[in-house]
Amino acid sequence: MPRKVNQPPLKRINKRRLLQTPRGMKDILPEDYLYYDYLIEIAKKTLEFYNFRRCEPPVLEKAELYNKGIGSNTDIVEKEMYTLKTKEEGEFLALRPEYTAGIVRAYVENGMFNWPQPIKLYSFGPIFRHEKPQAGRYRQFYQLNIESIGDSSPALDVEVILASRAFLENLGFNQSDLEIRINSIGCNKCRSIYIRALVRYYKQHLKDICKDCRKRLKINPLRVLDCKNPKCIAIKDKAPSFLDYLCDNCKDHFKNVLDILDNVGVSYVLDKTLVRGLDYYSRTVFEIRKKDKDKETSLSLAGGGRYDYLVKLLGGLDRPAVGVAFGVERLVEEMKAMRRNLEFPKPKVFLIQLGDAAKKQAFILLEKLRKANISTEANLEKDNINSQIKNADRVNAPYALILGQQEVLDGMIILKDMTSGLQETIPFDRIIEELRKRLARKF
Ligand code: AMP
Repeated sequence: MPRKVNQPPLKRINKRRLLQTPRGMKDILPEDYLYYDYLIEIAKKTLEFYNFRRCEPPVLEKAELYNKGIGSNTDIVEKEMYTLKTKEEGEFLALRPEYTAGIVRAYVENGMFNWPQPIKLYSFGPIFRHEKPQAGRYRQFYQLNIESIGDSSPALDVEVILASRAFLENLGFNQSDLEIRINSIGCNKCRSIYIRALVRYYKQHLKDICKDCRKRLKINPLRVLDCKNPKCIAIKDKAPSFLDYLCDNCKDHFKNVLDILDNVGVSYVLDKTLVRGLDYYSRTVFEIRKKDKDKETSLSLAGGGRYDYLVKLLGGLDRPAVGVAFGVERLVEEMKAMRRNLEFPKPKVFLIQLGDAAKKQAFILLEKLRKANISTEANLEKDNINSQIKNADRVNAPYALILGQQEVLDGMIILKDMTSGLQETIPFDRIIEELRKRLARKF
């Protein structure tokens, strides 16, 4: 875009000489933070309406929590965790690579198992994973996380799905653009039988699958179903389905989840290849995707499921649980694509001052206006009237106040309606009352 003649030239800096954010991390600038703020507001309204309460574990936890909770053979723990050793105590800590393990630690440590169950919690904060940076994938990103701990009822699986769907709808998504993919990966008992069948099947195709899948078969066989390599797709499509291997209890649980979803009119897609990347999942697993009308693909907005063994694994009682995590950066991108334009609130008044005596008065008046809840902007660091008027225009406030030497002497102030351009001189001690009246008429 050509620059206007009277615009000052942009000041440039040599980026190579600058200290920059670490790879895969980014600043959230004010224009973007508007979206994060809005998202938190909608999450709070929706989830508290569903009776979830906010709970925040620390960003740093003992690394052992994740080794134990998520599983040491998972990508997150094996390759992606940011860890550090503290200088004095030599404690081995990790930056949170996901929320659930920390929330479960908090549940056990704070004796929440003694409170009426289930415990319904939500959290919002940064997540750190040392992944390969690529479009839409960061090394520091934000998640909105929802957990319901303390009960194995299928009703809780459905409640988490319904709360998630309500949150997305309140954010502006159309129900018809969302797709809920669901599967069951059984309990410890039926999972070992299924994994044996899966490995047996894949062993017949070792030559035709990718190197990663051959490795996965040895250390974490379920993850072969997650493989996106085109080479493995046909093999994966013909793999045995977990649903044929579920034990009676897990079959019953999954059937109940689907029945309730049917009864409340939530459509879903059964996806026999849906597994989750972390070891702690059991029974129901699901993903919420945004359908892409132009492509076959869809974008994952959230992933969740049951984790019935995690509380006990982390030293608690036998307390089943279910939860979901949303990727906030993706939601922000989608909100922008849906043309949800968010703006900062505009100040109602711009205060202009001229001369030393006026500047002194202006400081006092500015505080008074703000205390009276009339949002006011000023450039008290500037003396030049033209640049103050220019800023008043840019800020787009409906009223300007002008205080010069003469007005200070007369105990008056000029009130300018920025829409009509009309100016009036008003006694200084009546200005707050006057503004209140006029703003009440305008807004
Ligand atoms: P997960 O914790 O891996 O189940 O991911 C839950 C959601 O977080 C996904 O659906 C994504 O929207 C989001 N997500 C996961 N990894 C990243 C990343 N590296 N950068 C941005 N968003 C991510």
